[in-house]
Amino acid sequence: MGATMNLTIDGITPGLAGSLFQSPGTGVATPYLGCNIYVTQLNVAALFLTDANGDASVPVNVPNNPALCGAQLVVQGAVWSGTGSVLGMDVTNALELQVGTAPPSGGTFPNDWIHGSANCNTNTDPPIQVHQYAPRTWILRQNACLNYEAPFMYLMIGDTKAMLIDSGATSSASLFPIQATVQGLLDTYEAANNLPDLDLVVAHSHSHGDHRQGDGQFVGQPNTTVVGASLGSVQSFFGFSSWPTQQVTYDLGGRVLEILAVPGHHSTHIAFYDAETGALFTGDTLYPGFLFIPSLNSYKQSIARLTAFAQTRTITDILGGHIEMQATAGVWYPYGTVYQPNERVLQLTAAHLFELNMSIQAITGSTTQIHNDFIINVF
Ligand SMILES: [Zn+2]
Repeated sequence: MGATMNLTIDGITPGLAGSLFQSPGTGVATPYLGCNIYVTQLNVAALFLTDANGDASVPVNVPNNPALCGAQLVVQGAVWSGTGSVLGMDVTNALELQVGTAPPSGGTFPNDWIHGSANCNTNTDPPIQVHQYAPRTWILRQNACLNYEAPFMYLMIGDTKAMLIDSGATSSASLFPIQATVQGLLDTYEAANNLPDLDLVVAHSHSHGDHRQGDGQFVGQPNTTVVGASLGSVQSFFGFSSWPTQQVTYDLGGRVLEILAVPGHHSTHIAFYDAETGALFTGDTLYPGFLFIPSLNSYKQSIARLTAFAQTRTITDILGGHIEMQATAGVWYPYGTVYQPNERVLQLTAAHLFELNMSIQAITGSTTQIHNDFIINVF
C-alpha cells in the first residue's frame, strides 16, 4: 500500500505533496483528520513523528495517535513554507521524510527598552518603541513619559489575521499613535509578503485601563475588531463556555493561539500561548513587577492551571504587561515613577511561573512577598 499523505500547502496540490510521501514499503493508511501541518522544509532522509509536546519520537506505526493531532507538524529538510491540513498519512514508512513538532522559534530582545526620563520635558524617545521579536511577532512599549505604566503590547500575525494584545495606557492618537503604528507594521508585512489586508483583532490581557486606552483609535477602522472590555464580551469572543477552567484556541491562520482564563488580578484576565514562538503572554498576572492580587483564590487556581499548562508546552519566554523591577534582584522602582534607568529585562521563564505557583499556593491572606524578579502583593 502506498502513501496516503494528502496536503494542501499554499496551493500546492495534494497529488504533489502525496507523491513526496510515497512509500515503497507496506503500510497502513492512517488518517490524521483535522491536524494542522506546518511545512518548513523537506528531506528524504528519514521519517519520524514527534508528539505535540516535542517529546521523543512517537512510534510512527501507531495509527490515529491523538498526540499528533492539534499540533503543528514540521517537515524538516528544505523545500516549502506554508500551512495546510493533514488529511491522511502513511506513517509506517520510516524512510522518506522527517516529520516532527515545530520547535518554537523563540525571539530576540533589544538591548534596552525606552524607560522614561528623569525630566520628561527633555525626553526624545518615540511614543512607542517597536521591536520585532520574531518574523511574525512584535513587541511594542509605551513611553513612560506619556504614562508611568509604560505597558507592553504584542502584535502577532498569522496567514489571515493579526492580533494585538493590549492597546496601551493613552487614548490620544496624536500623543500615542498605537493604531497608526500597528497599521504601519501590517501594511509593511502585507506588502513584503504580497498579502491582502489582514483582519486585525484588538484583544486584551485584561480590562484595566492601562491596557485598553488605545482601543478608541481602532474602533471603526477597516478590517478591525476590538474585543469588548466586559467579561461577557471576552467569553463570547473567544468562545469560553466554561469559565475559567476551559482552555480555548484562536486561529490567526496557520498560527493557533491557546488561551487560558487566569482571573485573580482582574476578573477578565486571560493568557495567550503562541506555539510558533513559544511565548506565553501573561499580562499583569505575571511580569517582573508588582503582582497585585485582589482575588487570591481565583489567582491561586489560575496560576495552578497556568503551571500545569506550561509543563506540557515549550515556553521560550513569559512576556507580561510591565517592568517594575530593577536589574538588581529583589529591587523595585517606586510606584508611579516615569524613569527606570536600570530596569530588569522584560522576559521571564517557566521557572518563574513555577516559583510563583509554589509560593502562591502557600499564601492564605494579605501579604507582600518579595522575590528576585517579581513581588507578590495580596490585598
Ligand atoms: Zn497593567
